[in-house]
This record gives sequence, structure tokens and C-alpha cells, in this order.
Amino acid sequence: MLHGTRLFLTGLLAIACTLLGAPVAAATSGFPAGSVCTALAADNAADNASTAALARNPAHWDCSRANWAIDGARASLVRIDMAGRPLAAGSVLTTRLTRFDRLWLTAIGRDGTSTTREITSGDLRFSTTHWKMRMPLPRLHAPVTAYVLKVTGARHPGLLSDVQVAPPPDEARVGNEQILLAMLCGLMLMPLVLNFGFYRVLRQPFALWHALAVFGMLVQTFVASGLVNRFFVLSLFEICALSSASLALASIAATQFLASLVEPGMLGPWQKRLLRATGPWMAVWSIYYLFAGGPLLPSVSAVYYAAFLPLFAMLVWSMATAARRGSRTVWFQIIGWTPLIGMALVRIGSLLGMADSPLSVMTAQHLSLGFEVLLSTLGAADRFMTIKHERDRAITQSRFLESLAERDPLTGLFNRRGFEERYAQLAKKGFDTMAVLDLDHFKLINDTRGHAMGDAVLKAVARALMPDEDTVAVRFGGEEFLLLLRGPDAADRAERRRQSIPVRIAAEISGLDRPVTASMGLITGAPLMRFADLYAQCDALLYQAKSEGRNRTAHTAMTVETDTGANSTVVNLR
Ligand code: GH3
Ligand code: MG
Ligand code: MG
Repeated sequence: MLHGTRLFLTGLLAIACTLLGAPVAAATSGFPAGSVCTALAADNAADNASTAALARNPAHWDCSRANWAIDGARASLVRIDMAGRPLAAGSVLTTRLTRFDRLWLTAIGRDGTSTTREITSGDLRFSTTHWKMRMPLPRLHAPVTAYVLKVTGARHPGLLSDVQVAPPPDEARVGNEQILLAMLCGLMLMPLVLNFGFYRVLRQPFALWHALAVFGMLVQTFVASGLVNRFFVLSLFEICALSSASLALASIAATQFLASLVEPGMLGPWQKRLLRATGPWMAVWSIYYLFAGGPLLPSVSAVYYAAFLPLFAMLVWSMATAARRGSRTVWFQIIGWTPLIGMALVRIGSLLGMADSPLSVMTAQHLSLGFEVLLSTLGAADRFMTIKHERDRAITQSRFLESLAERDPLTGLFNRRGFEERYAQLAKKGFDTMAVLDLDHFKLINDTRGHAMGDAVLKAVARALMPDEDTVAVRFGGEEFLLLLRGPDAADRAERRRQSIPVRIAAEISGLDRPVTASMGLITGAPLMRFADLYAQCDALLYQAKSEGRNRTAHTAMTVETDTGANSTVVNLR
């Protein structure tokens, strides 16, 4: 009961202190109530007593919240004044996620006692919603007037400026922001699939570079948003390494992507080379950021962030050049990159002491990355469609030219060249019957009715030959045609076609005084013979038909007998 009353009174006092600007606490400790102050101290790791002594000496501290010094040789201290701050049970110290060498937390009691705890990697917990880490506070029996964080080898001043003592967030709860971020990550998976599709169709390297850039941005969003900590247990170093490696990968791939995406001639060769080199440049600085130490530590973040400036300058210069030269696709990149570059400049500026950038801009960074992915995907799709359209047109054109070369312009049938190219394949597909047809006394038509009438007759013959999937019709030259057929009734079909020629011509062409007939040499059941041999035999049969009076067919059926003993093929003519 007594304990409860004391607690109540302490609470009342705390509220009063807060409302009145904490004159009591300020008066007792010499620190402004609730202040967060910083100082540098000798890196005497074991000397916790001196830390506690320092924490009671306001003269030693900078409470302006303007300077957060990191020093390669000395330890950085942050004193969080707890006067007027009721401490909720289970409270922890949260701060920006960043690497350090060693870190101690000291609790300073109102009664003059103090206790220190070194924070090891096992003590660290990582936020599943933000770029933050938290650590347990040391326990003290007496009421705590201040906590002191002492750190060596901090890589980023945010470790000092972002400290907060508060109850741990409810990580199990999934808020709107997490849903949005998860959706964003899901959205980024789509371009990955799409890009592989683009690459399969066009074999354009920009599709692969884009996939890689999107992958880098996806990993960056997944890690920097804290989502990764919902799925994996990673160490501080692993989280930082994943974050900077994914940024380096995205930088390499994004610059390569831009260089390979823009239309030919939109970037000069030197500009392209420089653009391609800025990605690896970022990779070098990522390694520096991860592994630099000692006297380099105080500047390591600033140097790393500043290294992004040439990358952005190169991107802006390249995009501006391409836009000026009339590139269409670069506009997708310009719109996509604008928020991201703006965002990044705010972050870089804040680290270089030029602007204020709270940790909350991280959400804006994720959204900017998502926007860039969306726009660059639209750009890649647009470029894909343009290239595919150009390629299809070129293919159609070349097919047209090819067909001109292999088709007879008068009748539309295959010409000799087109047919000879296909003969071997057709023979393999079972076309084993060949007929060579020649119009009888065709010269007379030309001589008596004119060349135009002769042409009309040739076209009618082509229609009478009726090519289909089992019948290939060829205008072999002049008024000579060739049929290649397959199927059991191939000979009958060839003969029917020959006989339909005078009927067709009579039906379609008026003014001819006599029927135009054709003679035919026909070979059925021919095995896989060389074209020239088969044709020569057909031609001989045609000659035979002509000499026997024309308007008839001379036919030879071939049989194949295999002499098993000699392993040779004998062709018998019947
Ligand atoms: P045969 O019964 O012995 O075959 O007599 P023919 O008159 O049909 O034979 P010949 O080879 O003497 O004549 C073929 C004629 O075909 C000669 C040529 O003027 C004509 N010719 C060849 N190509 C064309 C063409 O594209 N158009 C026209 N109108 N005539 C052609
Ligand atoms: Mg003839
Ligand atoms: Mg002839």
C-alpha cells in the first residue's frame, strides 16, 4: 500500500515536471529534464565508473542535439535523461541500425548507484518494420535518472542521434505500412518474370540488366524495411552487408541497363563507357563502407554516401543527353528516377550536414524505389515492343523477299529454285511420286493469240494443278510444270490434274480454237533419290509421251529390292 502511494506520488511529480518544464529535475541533476546529450570520452572500455561520473557532470556534455560526434580514437557517449519520463516495464533502448565495435549501456541511479552492461550481438533485436535495432536496458534497484550509451567504432551518427528509451514495439502486429511494403516487394517480383520473358524473345541484354537491377532493389527494400527480420535471423553485419551489397548490385545493373536500353546513337561511346563504369565504382565504395575502420571510421558513412553523387550525376547527364537527342525510352527512366534521386539527395545532404533527414524518410525511399521499378519496367516493356515491332517488320520484309526469290511471279507456284531447296525435306516426308508436265504445242498459242493469252493459259494451268498438303506444284520453266505427290493414289491424282488442264483452260479462257493439252512423264514409288536423277527419268518419260503423240502420260512405277547379302539397293524399272 505504501509502495503504491509512493508510486502514485512519483507519477504525479513526473507529470508536474513534464508540464512545468521539469524545473525540479533540472535543478537536481543539472541536465535539462528529458534531455539527450552527447560527449566524447577516452576509449577505456572497462572503466564504467568514469562513465557514471561523467554522466553526473553537465559541463562535459553537449545537449544542443546538433552535434553527434564519432571519433575514430575515442568512444562516443549519449546520455538520456530520464527525469520526467516514467519508465514503462520492459522498456528497451532503440536506435538506428548501424554497425559498431563495442557498446555499453549504463544506468545511473538517483541514489548514486550505477550499473553497466555490455551489449553483445546476442542482445540485439532488429525491427521488422524499420531500419532500427534495440537492446535491453541494464537493471538497477534504485530509480534511474539517466541511461548512458557508450559506443566505439560507430559507423553512422544516427546511432547516437536516434536513441530512444521506450517500450518495445508490438512486432506481431501487421500495420498498413507493412502491408504496403509487402505489396511493394510482391510488385517487384513481376518485372523479374517479365524480363526473362523479354530476354527469351529478343535476347536483348537490357532485359537481363533490368532483372538484376530490380532484384537488387527488391533485396534492398526487403532488408531496409525490416521485413527480412520477420523471416530470417540475421546478424548486424549480415543485415548491413546485404543492404549495401544490394545497393551496389542495383547501381551496377541500373547503369548497365540504361546504357543498353537507350536507342542506338542516343549516348556517345565515351558517355556509355563512363556510365557503365559508375556501377562498379559504387561496388568499390560499398566494400569500403563495410570494411573500413580505425581513423577512417568518423567519415566512413559520409564518404560512402558522397560516393553516390557521381553515380547520380552520371545518370542525370546520360538521361539528359538521350532526351536531348530524341530518345523516347529515356523519358520512362527520367520520370522513374526523379523521386529516387531527390530522396537520395536529401539523405546524402543530411549526412553531410546540409539538411535534416529523419529515419522516417526510409519509407519514402522504399516507395521511390518501387516507383522507379514500375516506371523502368514500363520503359523496358515499351522498348521491347518497339524492338519486337522493328524485328517483325524486318522478318516480314525478308520473308517477302525470300518468297519473291522462290516463287514464280506469274502463277504464284514454287519456281525451280524454291522447289529444289525443299525437295530433300519433302522426299523425307513421303513425297515419292514425281510428274513432269509440258503443254502441247504451246508455242502456237503465243504465235497465234499473243503472249498475253499464253500467260493467261499458264495461270489457268497453275490453278488446274491444285497444290494441297499432299501435292506440291512447281512451274519448272516456260510451259513446263512439275508435281511432287505422296499418298497411295498419287498417280491417279497426278493424272486427274493433267486431264483437267484442257477442261480448265476451256472454261476460263475464251477465244482458243482448240483444246490445250499436256503430256506427262510420271514416276511413282520412287525411293529417296537424288532430285537430278529422278527428274532426268521423268523428263525421259515426258519425251516418250510427246513422241508417242502427246496428250498422254508415260508412267513408271519403281520398286526397291534390297539384296540382303550385298547390302546394296537395286532399283528396278518396270
Ligand atoms: P511441245 O508440244 O513440243 O512442247 O511444243 P511447244 O510449242 O509447247 O514447245 P516449245 O518448247 O517449242 O515452246 C515453248 C514456248 O513457251 C516457247 C516460249 O515462247 C513459250 N513460253 C515460255 N515461257 C513463257 C511465258 O512466260 N509466257 C508465255 N506466254 N510464253 C512462254
Ligand atoms: Mg510444250
Ligand atoms: Mg517445253
